Amino acid sequence: MKEEKSIGKAYDLVIVGGGVTGAGVFHEAVRRGLSPLLVEANDFAWGTSSRSSKMVHGGLRYLKEGKILLTRSAVRERQRLLTVYPGLVDPLNFIMPLYEGHGPSMGAMKFGLSLYSLMAGEKQHQIFSRGQTLDRVPKVCREHLLSAVGFKDAQVDDARLVLRLIFDGCDGGGQAFNYTKALSIERNARGTVAGVHLKDMRTGEGILVKTPVVINATGAFAEALHPSPVRGFHIRPLRGSHLVFPGKLYPIDRVISFIHPLDKRPVFLFPWENCLFLGTTDVDHTTDVSKEPCITEDEANYLMDGLAHILPDLKVSLDDCIASIAGVRPILSKKKVSASKESREHVVWKEGGLVTVTGGKLTTFQLLAMDALKAAQKYLPGHSKNRYAKTKIEPRAASGGKLEIAKEALALCSEGLSPQAVQRLFGRYGDRVHQMVAICSEADFTCIATTQTLWAELCHAAQNEQVCNLSDLLLRRVRIGLFLPNGGMDLMDEIQARVQPFLAWDDARWIQERKAYEKVWQDAYAPPAQKINPLNEPPNKF
Ligand SMILES: Cc1cc2nc3c(=O)[nH]c(=O)nc-3n(C[C@H](O)[C@H](O)[C@H](O)COP(=O)(O)OP(=O)(O)OC[C@H]3O[C@@H](n4cnc5c(N)ncnc54)[C@H](O)[C@@H]3O)c2cc1C
Repeated sequence: MKEEKSIGKAYDLVIVGGGVTGAGVFHEAVRRGLSPLLVEANDFAWGTSSRSSKMVHGGLRYLKEGKILLTRSAVRERQRLLTVYPGLVDPLNFIMPLYEGHGPSMGAMKFGLSLYSLMAGEKQHQIFSRGQTLDRVPKVCREHLLSAVGFKDAQVDDARLVLRLIFDGCDGGGQAFNYTKALSIERNARGTVAGVHLKDMRTGEGILVKTPVVINATGAFAEALHPSPVRGFHIRPLRGSHLVFPGKLYPIDRVISFIHPLDKRPVFLFPWENCLFLGTTDVDHTTDVSKEPCITEDEANYLMDGLAHILPDLKVSLDDCIASIAGVRPILSKKKVSASKESREHVVWKEGGLVTVTGGKLTTFQLLAMDALKAAQKYLPGHSKNRYAKTKIEPRAASGGKLEIAKEALALCSEGLSPQAVQRLFGRYGDRVHQMVAICSEADFTCIATTQTLWAELCHAAQNEQVCNLSDLLLRRVRIGLFLPNGGMDLMDEIQARVQPFLAWDDARWIQERKAYEKVWQDAYAPPAQKINPLNEPPNKF
């Protein structure tokens, strides 16, 4: 490593990890008037937080496990996020067909869903007769079909949620850098945190930053900076994978939730951005967590078996699949139970200004952030007990004027956009839409191929969102690498023509980026039929 330089500015806290947990802490710290720095070793949302099932949910399975408080917090969070981020977090209907002798009974579902509705403060479920079920989910397996339950949860673009939290936090005075890795913690003579040693992953430069608090929000990597203080209790990385199909194969407006016949786990087929996602699996991830995870052949077959079970007449095979995505759950475990029985609750460990927060769910990121800041309060400036107590969470003060100006400007240059498309933009970019409008023309406010993503989003991200390579742009700033066949490679000339002016990349760099993106996509996001298993793992047991 090159010689380390020291930064004069001291931060109130440094947050390590730019997934939803770190982004939530960062956003909340800014909201509380603190001066935070967030560092992410790869790209923002590179880890699990861009690879989830995109559900903002209470989690019916937690209810089944008797975890009433966890479910209640998650349901409340879902309701809050729907209010704060419309267009980014949107309502989503679910339907779960019920069968005689297989899966949960109507009685159990009715009881669970009544509780679920009670927690949300309104009735959010309904019962469908056999006929109504077949109308809503054509081609669903008819054998032993009794009826179905319908209920409401919500859906989010996970990576965009992370980015919204980070960029809102930056606009509020925080600083955030991607491709900056935390190597180790600097301590003073008393053993408490005095700083953190960082490495700029692009230049190799070392940097020492002063701070009394480090929040370690590195998910599945957490024990690298802070080994578990509890004997025998460690992170057990569990991989979950999804297959992606074109939405036109089976147009649905709701999630089909079903029980996999092989291991009785819930699996989902859900619509997202004109595509269909099928997932997820839950298997031990035994290879290096610092490499991009990817689906194995066994996982793909498991998911296809589940699909064939619930929709036996649907003519679909792995050859129809256009992409795949896999993520690693940071589960804290004594490893005594099977993967799917592991608890999804988060933990907080603290030790002299170092606070680790890991586990949990995307849905409850704000609760993790509150717990982490509370654990760090003794070391934060101007601390008082009440400041970090669980207060009612309000959205970041909307910069009224700026938002109104952005809305007016957008209306002028994007007449053709539907109200939903406008809401989608404000949900994802907040008042930063004004930056988009400033650099885009009317022609940019059109969709990229079959996706709901606008060319304007691509240009805005390239210009304003710390894009360091093409994968950042196509897999996380926008998600077209997942939605288009071949990862969007067939559109690459047009993408280059549109975004090259906004990136400081000459033609040689563009060729290099294109090759690197192609490799990342092939290794980690291609449909299973198109790739050799680079994980080289032993076969998965289901
Ligand atoms: C398949 C799957 C489906 C899921 N579906 C849902 C769902 O539908 N709803 C839901 O609520 N939850 C869901 N979850 C859970 C949820 O996605 C995770 O709980 C959440 O994303 C974890 O976020 P995180 O920020 O803690 O970790 P991550 O997103 O993994 O972020 C950690 C970051 O830390 C960075 N990092 C690591 N080491 C360092 C270092 N030394 N210096 C700097 N940076 C570092 C990594 O690069 C990474 O980006 C799902 C999880 C999986 C795997």
